[in-house]
Amino acid sequence: MKQDIKPIIFFLTTICTIVSIMVGLGVIFGAIDYKFNSEVFMETTSYNSNLYMNKELADELNTYYADSKREFSACIIISQEKTQVSNDNLNIDYYLTGIEGQVKYSGFDHSTNEMCNYGTIHSHPKGTPYFSIADITAFKSRIKEGETFAVIIHGENEFTYITRNDFEEKKVVITN
Ligand SMILES: [Zn+2]
Repeated sequence: MKQDIKPIIFFLTTICTIVSIMVGLGVIFGAIDYKFNSEVFMETTSYNSNLYMNKELADELNTYYADSKREFSACIIISQEKTQVSNDNLNIDYYLTGIEGQVKYSGFDHSTNEMCNYGTIHSHPKGTPYFSIADITAFKSRIKEGETFAVIIHGENEFTYITRNDFEEKKVVITN
């Protein structure tokens, strides 16, 4: 009896192993592919960047900001457009096109918040226009998980962002 079952079990185990390896490779290649796609630029290149969003989205974010004295946070959807200005100078336009998932309020611990596909937005209800040390530390660990972008809203239509490749804070006021 056992001798009859053994080959079948061996066969099934082998199939399972092969399928697992294929799925694993798929995930790995998928992840690598995703990272290539979301690669912002080559590390050696200097660049300028801008952040754009439409007025409706800015108004939505303004509403979350104004609605509560508490901090809110959310995953954001970012796309980008690269323009090679010269050999070693790249311009990157970032487009904040929406929020992904739920908006969360206060008591929020950046470091334990779930990961996002692109990055996060959070508010500074007291109007502080720069990233805190905790924000930067959290962003550094989120970068390792594939995030590329972080933005804060610190006033009506007032935003500041950093990217994986440039921790220099850039302020943006949405006027359109
Ligand atoms: Zn913050």
